[in-house]
Amino acid sequence: AWKAGEQTVLLRRQLEAMEDGGVVVLAVPATPYRCPPAPYERASLIALYLKAKKPRSKILILDAKDAIPQQRLFENAWKQFYPGMIERIALSEGGRVVSVEPATNTLITDFGNYNAQVANVIPPQKAGRIATLAGAADKTGWCPIEPATFASTLVPNIHVIGDAFIGGAAPKSASAASSEGKACAGIVAALIAGTAPEGPTIEGTCYNTVAPGYAFSMSGNYQPRDDLFGEVVGSGFTSPVHAESGLRKDEADRAQSWFKKITVETFG
Ligand SMILES: Cc1cc2nc3c(=O)[nH]c(=O)nc-3n(C[C@H](O)[C@H](O)[C@H](O)COP(=O)(O)OP(=O)(O)OC[C@H]3O[C@@H](n4cnc5c(N)ncnc54)[C@H](O)[C@@H]3O)c2cc1C
Repeated sequence: AWKAGEQTVLLRRQLEAMEDGGVVVLAVPATPYRCPPAPYERASLIALYLKAKKPRSKILILDAKDAIPQQRLFENAWKQFYPGMIERIALSEGGRVVSVEPATNTLITDFGNYNAQVANVIPPQKAGRIATLAGAADKTGWCPIEPATFASTLVPNIHVIGDAFIGGAAPKSASAASSEGKACAGIVAALIAGTAPEGPTIEGTCYNTVAPGYAFSMSGNYQPRDDLFGEVVGSGFTSPVHAESGLRKDEADRAQSWFKKITVETFG
């Protein structure tokens, strides 16, 4: 139940069916995976539902990494909106899930077993199957590219955009994928025309809406650096840890506008 579809609908039904006082466990993989802050936004939104409908319930995040994006912003928001509801066990505290027993809803880590009433196991990820079939993915499961042109380094005349490529600092996000699509189209057109393509600049923005009217964000621009993308110096933005509630509300509004804009741009 990571990307939206049948599984996320099932997750919703399981949350609705859960008794008050149940434990919801989210297993988060190591990077790279699509949308690095999204598991923590999801934990927040599940907490919003539980607080209203099943306030004795808890959310346990079993995490395969130590630091998380915008960590202090998430932790402060959890204290403010969902006190005592969300607990996170980091990698160094034994949070990495190594296997799952669906029959008993047990998640197994290197250090102990956790029983869940509802489990959302976000698995380690790789590029889609078509990338492997095309020979464009390497043994990491992701696609190495020449960042100046998005050209696969493994298969001639294939250009890879979006989550599938090995991007360095460029995030696996919809905003970055959209920006890559536009840049790559220009590059392929230039290559066909026999002219020198312009080097790409990718823009990435991620909003985290953790409660109604309360969001924070991070963004940056990325350009080819060595074999990957590096962040353009001075382009990075992250919402301040201490801010007036007006700023969080503005960011929540901007998140909605961003979503409408990218949806229209992508799907018409
Ligand atoms: C819970 C969650 C929250 C997120 N939140 C945000 C956010 O707030 N902001 C943000 O910017 N990003 C967010 N993302 C990340 C964003 O969804 C992805 O980074 C983005 O969708 C990547 O686009 P893509 O085109 O690379 O891959 P995809 O969107 O996965 O598109 C690939 C498409 O290829 C199709 N396909 C696969 N194989 C074939 C084939 N053989 N033939 C034809 N078609 C095929 C698939 O069906 C799919 O439609 C989130 C992701 C998740 C899971």
